[in-house]
Amino acid sequence: MIWYPYEQMKTMKEPIKIVDAKGVYLYAELPDEDSVAEGHSSLQRDTPRCKRTVPTIDAVSSWWCQIHGYCNPEITEAIKAQADNFSHVMLGGLTHDPVQRLSKKLAEWLPGDLNYCFFSDSGSVAVEVALKMALQYYVNIGQKHRIKIMSLTHSYHGDTFKTMEAGDDEDYHFILEVYGENPNVIHVPTTIPELEEAFEKHHEDIYCFIVEPLLQGAGGMRMYDISYLRRARELCDQYGVLLIFDEVATGFGRTGYRFVADEVLPDIIVLGKALTGGHIGHAATVANQKVYDAFYSDDADKALMHGPTFMGNALACVAALKSIELFEKNDYMSKIHHITEIFHEEMDGFSHEAIKEVRMMGGCLCIEVKDPASLKGYQEYALRRGVFARPFLSYLYTMPPYIIEDDDLRTILRCMKEWFQIP
Ligand SMILES: *Cc1c(COP(=O)(O)O)cnc(C)c1O
Repeated sequence: MIWYPYEQMKTMKEPIKIVDAKGVYLYAELPDEDSVAEGHSSLQRDTPRCKRTVPTIDAVSSWWCQIHGYCNPEITEAIKAQADNFSHVMLGGLTHDPVQRLSKKLAEWLPGDLNYCFFSDSGSVAVEVALKMALQYYVNIGQKHRIKIMSLTHSYHGDTFKTMEAGDDEDYHFILEVYGENPNVIHVPTTIPELEEAFEKHHEDIYCFIVEPLLQGAGGMRMYDISYLRRARELCDQYGVLLIFDEVATGFGRTGYRFVADEVLPDIIVLGKALTGGHIGHAATVANQKVYDAFYSDDADKALMHGPTFMGNALACVAALKSIELFEKNDYMSKIHHITEIFHEEMDGFSHEAIKEVRMMGGCLCIEVKDPASLKGYQEYALRRGVFARPFLSYLYTMPPYIIEDDDLRTILRCMKEWFQIP
């Protein structure tokens, strides 16, 4: 029995069974016509009929990671070739060519002196590593009083315990019920005066300011201005606080910047999701020289004591290398800018009384509605139009694969608009 994510198992809908996935299309084994028609009689009639296996455009890139679409032939080939050699060896006392090449590539590719790559198997773990690294940084330099994290309201940093605490996701507020508010986490809104005030008040106690830069994903596709991050960088410098960018979602072009770190340089950057082009789970916590130097010592106690079993997995590393190669070779940044243009073409001026706001940035577009009830039934509606979507709470959004063709992108966006125009 599979225990599905974020679901009440008792009431969850039957999951859609995917039998094939290529490019932007999921090939879903949809229920046959009769069972669909029963549930949704009025909408069913004037829409294309569901066949048993139909291509469905994935509007959300499988939780935002499939930037090249599914089953990219070159990434698949790289994985196959490496699997013939070996799939995995641990990094405990061992190393190998794919992980060496990936760390070198990331060091070159990432801005500034973000050069020291610690690999792990998921974004949550990579955030844990970043937090642990930041805390120990201060221990190593003799500032043990810094024990608090500063993070953003509505932030999401993963599902493990420390990342839940650093985050501010309503779904996790049950931990507040049992533990009470954690005095070691300070949440600040994305407004500069409040940020300045929080730094003034807490700067002696905090060991990091961690943010999802520019775009807060799971917290509701909230977007804020780069000037906030520039000010955060200044304040971190002024007060000697480490700045961590959790770019698990925003990295690899999603905001319209390759990395937000290209604009404002953090001390530690966390990468995940699209790192391997979405083909295998992997993540990286990349530190700058200053952080690394605080660990580099003759003193064994100053070492970073962490080591996920599957860190630096060879299949993941070759997938990531190929993904980055494709990103550069095929000028993905211009693809992303083109996606933004189409967002504007389709959505500028679009409004409806049920809608609170339409916002867009890079390869992300979100319609926030006033009442979550107005999104009820959207997923089924979209499926019948050949689009897979997964709205949550008040947010109907798309983060398409970057390789999406204009027609398919317009199909996604028109589906979103037409939903509000149903009488
Ligand atoms: C998805 C996500 C994570 C967690 O990554 P997992 O691989 O799901 O553990 C962390 N931070 C941000 C910003 C994310 O979007």
